[in-house]
Amino acid sequence: MGPKRTLNTPEVTEIAAEALAHVRWLARAGVKEVPKAAKPVPLTPDRSSTERGGRGSAPLTPTSAPAATSTPAPHTPAVSPAERGRGGSYALTDKGCGSEALLAVRGEVGDCTRCKLSRGRTNLVFGVGNPRAELMFVGEGPGADEDLQGEPFVGKAGQLLTRMIEAMGYRRADVYIANVVKCRPPGNRNPEPDEIEACEPFLRAQIAAIGPKVIVALGKFAAQTLLRDTTPISRLRGRWSQYGGVKLMPTFHPAYLLRSPDEKKKAWEDLQLVMAELGKPPLGR
Ligand code: URA
Repeated sequence: MGPKRTLNTPEVTEIAAEALAHVRWLARAGVKEVPKAAKPVPLTPDRSSTERGGRGSAPLTPTSAPAATSTPAPHTPAVSPAERGRGGSYALTDKGCGSEALLAVRGEVGDCTRCKLSRGRTNLVFGVGNPRAELMFVGEGPGADEDLQGEPFVGKAGQLLTRMIEAMGYRRADVYIANVVKCRPPGNRNPEPDEIEACEPFLRAQIAAIGPKVIVALGKFAAQTLLRDTTPISRLRGRWSQYGGVKLMPTFHPAYLLRSPDEKKKAWEDLQLVMAELGKPPLGR
């Protein structure tokens, strides 16, 4: 008989305490259900066995984050173990991960294969910006440019969004930008219900980690999805709602504004309401 193994070591106690704290944190972030792993999640993701597109294959526990990714984030500088924190393979210096809380969310997302969008992505687009932003923008999902660069809103619509942010008196780096889904839907189609269901807990967790005062929902899809409301964006916009306990202002999507520049005036009115809420001086535009 080999030596008796005891689980009552300080390491095990620490891991258990961390796991408990993490589950409580997820609950506070609005995560109601933790997918059960069909079998233990391998430390190195095995794409042949972890069928890309199978949902709920990885549990939302700190120890389940894949240790390595085969589609690495585009920006992966050398970092010290201290910088890596609870994010596993990810670092505080990675896009959108600039606090321990956000890094933990990134670690949970991991090299995600929870929905079929993972099959077509080049990069998972987690988010970008100030980890303690008072203002957060949420769009629909990455397009082609975002998929390639691993950053939300970097194409033509993104350039307009950056100008809108600057017109409000912020720099792009002052705010946080994310999407309802983190992987590009093929052909830029709308994300489907199972894809939203798989991804939205992480958006909620990001919001809980950042603690913004205001969220701006960009466009019909983001607004209707977050608010569970099929009212047309033309009527949702300009009116305060709530998402996860945070004030939410729906407005037009910058891509729509590029196609319909006459609507920019209305979007600017919405953003002025946001500025007033955040105590930003009106800039007169
Ligand atoms: N449109 C979106 O909704 N999100 C992006 O990141 C880019 C374009």
